Amino acid sequence: MDNKLFTPLQQVRGIGPERAQRLQRLGLHTASDLLFHFPRDYQDLSDERPIVELEEDKLQSVCGQVVEVAARSTGFGKSRVQVLLSDGTHLLKALWFNQPFMQRRFHQGQRLIFSAKPSLRGSTWQMSHPQITWLGDDEQRLAGSLLPIYALTEGISQYHMRRFVQTVVEDYAALLEEVFPPALLTQYELLSLQPALASIHQPVDSQALLPARRRFVFQELFVLQLALSIRRNSFQQLAAPELPTTAKINARIRRLLPFELTASQEESIDEVSADMALDRPMNRLLQGDVGSGKTVVALYAMLVAVAHGWQTVLMVPTEILARQHARTLHHLLEASRVRYALLTGGLATAERRKVLDDLAASQLDMVIGTQAIIQDGVTFGKLGLVVIDEQHKFGVRQRAALREDDRSPHTLVMTATPIPRTMSMTMFGDLDVSTLSELPQGRQPVNTYLVTPEKQAHWWAFVRDRLREGRQAYVVVPLVDESETINAPSVAEAFEQLTNGELADFRLGLLHGRMPSSEKDQTMIDFVEGRTQVLVSTTVIEVGVDVANATVMTVAGAERFGLSQLHQLRGRIGRGSHPGFCGVLVDAPAESDEDANTSPDPARTRLESFAATTDGFVLAELDFELRGPGDLFGTQQHGMPPLRIANLLRDRDVLNEARREAQLLVAADPGLKHADHTKLRSQMLKRYGQALDISDVG
Ligand code: ADP
Ligand code: MG
Repeated sequence: MDNKLFTPLQQVRGIGPERAQRLQRLGLHTASDLLFHFPRDYQDLSDERPIVELEEDKLQSVCGQVVEVAARSTGFGKSRVQVLLSDGTHLLKALWFNQPFMQRRFHQGQRLIFSAKPSLRGSTWQMSHPQITWLGDDEQRLAGSLLPIYALTEGISQYHMRRFVQTVVEDYAALLEEVFPPALLTQYELLSLQPALASIHQPVDSQALLPARRRFVFQELFVLQLALSIRRNSFQQLAAPELPTTAKINARIRRLLPFELTASQEESIDEVSADMALDRPMNRLLQGDVGSGKTVVALYAMLVAVAHGWQTVLMVPTEILARQHARTLHHLLEASRVRYALLTGGLATAERRKVLDDLAASQLDMVIGTQAIIQDGVTFGKLGLVVIDEQHKFGVRQRAALREDDRSPHTLVMTATPIPRTMSMTMFGDLDVSTLSELPQGRQPVNTYLVTPEKQAHWWAFVRDRLREGRQAYVVVPLVDESETINAPSVAEAFEQLTNGELADFRLGLLHGRMPSSEKDQTMIDFVEGRTQVLVSTTVIEVGVDVANATVMTVAGAERFGLSQLHQLRGRIGRGSHPGFCGVLVDAPAESDEDANTSPDPARTRLESFAATTDGFVLAELDFELRGPGDLFGTQQHGMPPLRIANLLRDRDVLNEARREAQLLVAADPGLKHADHTKLRSQMLKRYGQALDISDVG
């Protein structure tokens, strides 16, 4: 690549040092960065009209002047901002719901363009959440009917950003070289780099945008899939112990299991066993809905390793879960000679020392623990298998933390959440996947209700009835920051209120993540052993906690949770032979507002879907559609750079193509050494080398 592409932004025509500094906040340092700062959306101005000529349900634009800005609260932390726009003869009302900050962006006299599908309310035209172009006094309208909308930072207006990008496209785009080999461009009918770049920033119309966007989406997903394939390849070149499941080992393990396995569990165990029998490391993801019985599959694999004299580690995200797994093992392994220990942050120094020494000396077969395990100072004598439960709390890189230079233990990853396929292909694309597609027999369904304020008394009476029958109950309250406690009760307050109110006759426990671990433990054990009847808790119980006698759950503040998270929480009940009941406390439905005609509250709609669906895969897809991938896996959490243009929902087809092609290419040229592939290779390393720990390829 020509070095001029890396011209610092302050030297780019029309930018200067001050603005260059502001642009750095967006990660934009060079001309090249700005060339690839893709619009996050477009405002379509192709159908601009006077207000009087608007039609319903059709994307149109109106240009005019702001005559009034008003904001008001509509209760329960909800709000509405209203802007009146005049085109000289008529008025249009633009509305924003629950975006109070929008008020500050408008003032009287501003000239601007709104674009949206308008609707006629009485005699007034309305647009909700329109796209906006501000027309300052000194700002000319840019040519074109499809205006790019860029991510901005303070002090850089949309107008400026458009001009800067236009400048770099004019001055620098010609220096760019194509990264794809010609054959690939032809095969996938991809627009070549330069015209694609021009069109993505300045599309002539929406038709011209499509091939440009597709090219960059393909490129982004292709480069990601190359990285994942290469990581997978390099993993497979490592040595791992051969741990075949012999008939004898199989029989010995099965004697320990207290139940018949489901067909799905059998299938997954077969897949895992086949992997572990090979001399290269297993790298498998086990996914299944809450309660589908992933633990026993992991346990089986662990026992196979132990039978061959190798150590295994089970890593979990919380101490509570570590203790619970330790209890399960305690029951299952009573009749065996397997030596296991718990290793968590809460351990006393001397105890911890002893566990570490025993691990290093191969005096322990199994260790269960939190991330503390993968921190410094843990050496295994002979580590054969790593199991990571509830993976989404672990970063991608931690997965590799226990491997050595040329060898690696087998790895089994289990997810807390069923993952939409497009997500797992990007997040875990380097793993093989086993899926538990059924629940064990005799599982009782969980019935879910939305409990409005006037039904709350009734709900608590129902909870008391179940408690009197001998069942136990959870009450889940979101963890709130001190800064936002206004309407949201803290878990401690909820505990107080229930102790003195609705549940005064019962024994309650309180659990949250900030308690000292010895206290957490005691609270959990009291609940598991039935000494407390109700556990008032934050979402620390979300992952994996398993108390079969707990059949009722009350969730407060559910709007704050994603559907998958709610489903995880709900998975805590209905685990035994009694049916489960989940009550989600909700606000009263929004009062109908004659002039605003509020569209249905999306938060409520979401909760209604939650109440109506018990399939975790369906809910995960829905979450993904409604709230995007971030809700399933925060980018920070999984440690991968965010996608810049691809949208895993819209671009499924491209993802499949890109993945297939990337795999073929890596199979043919594992080090990407061919002259045709060097540009792809350097892009891949630049973007994912660090995140995926791929430094030296081939
Ligand atoms: P998850 O997949 O959510 O991690 P667990 O492994 O915790 O699920 O299993 C949920 C519950 O189901 C546990 O109490 C476990 O003992 C039980 N279980 C697992 N497999 C079976 C089975 N095949 N038959 C009966 N109960 C099972
Ligand atoms: Mg589990």
